[in-house]
Amino acid sequence: MIAKPRTKPISLLKLEALLKRLPEVHPKYSLIKSDYAKQKAGYLGEKFLEYPLSCLPGKDYLIFNDLRLLNGKHFFQMDVLLLTPFFISILEVKNISGSIFFNSLFKQIIRTIEGKEEGFADPVAQVKRQAEHLRDWLERYGFPALPIVPLVVIANERTVIKLDPRDKITPNFVIPSSDIISNMRFYDKKFTSPFLTPRQVKKLYSRLIADHTPVEMDIFQRYALQKTDLIKGVQCPGCLSFPMNRVHGNWKCLRCSHVSQDAHNQALKDYALLIKTSITNKEARDFLGSISSDTAKRILQQTCKVSEGNNKGKLYFIPVDKV
Ligand SMILES: [Zn+2]
Repeated sequence: MIAKPRTKPISLLKLEALLKRLPEVHPKYSLIKSDYAKQKAGYLGEKFLEYPLSCLPGKDYLIFNDLRLLNGKHFFQMDVLLLTPFFISILEVKNISGSIFFNSLFKQIIRTIEGKEEGFADPVAQVKRQAEHLRDWLERYGFPALPIVPLVVIANERTVIKLDPRDKITPNFVIPSSDIISNMRFYDKKFTSPFLTPRQVKKLYSRLIADHTPVEMDIFQRYALQKTDLIKGVQCPGCLSFPMNRVHGNWKCLRCSHVSQDAHNQALKDYALLIKTSITNKEARDFLGSISSDTAKRILQQTCKVSEGNNKGKLYFIPVDKV
């Protein structure tokens, strides 16, 4: 059973909105684009796991996606946590194309693609660390010390996995996504006495959900950007160019003449993701462009059901759940 579903990470949504609104000639554009590509590959790899995980017997396994917990002073993040009364498994998901070689001596993996080599941090060491953090976390909340199985799952079936033949340890921790079920069956047979009562499972479930803290990312700080770097205006959903003009109650693209009734919604979502989730009439006019105060008021009243204050200081809250 899925106890915590996977949703598109807010950081990925922010990068998407940013790439739309940053001129391609901006000095940070290519860095942001490559960060976005990496994050997106990670997200797609984790999404890819949904099918094999759905084949696990639902009554025995609780599946938590993307948990970020506080262990004392530091956060630790787990791509997937599988909870049973008998054991916990943490899955670190890697979606890397090309061929990868596990260099356990230097705690690194080396990816080769199109003749180029690139180093990545060793995911086996990473997932073992997460297991240690989780062990501490369970202890801190008074849960029994149940066995924790850390695994690295290679999501991309075309990835060629290469291991040092002398390395006897790494193969125990790295599996292709198609092997998840058989691995879990193996651990089901290995751990036969329950560590948690049904009541404790429920308690742990609630504690994991309550303790999850999504990562906050200040995108301007991270890339040393200014708000003035952003392209303002409403984007044409047809040809993706900026800006659209407000004509007779609709938005009309200056380039391709596409007409839209509600293209401002996406612009307001971008504003919520990149700048802040509340907006005044004046800020909306400045960001959307070419509209009167009355039009801005109508748009904001339609889109934002919640507002606060009066007159010029009135703040409209852009619904982020729809972002
Ligand atoms: Zn257009």
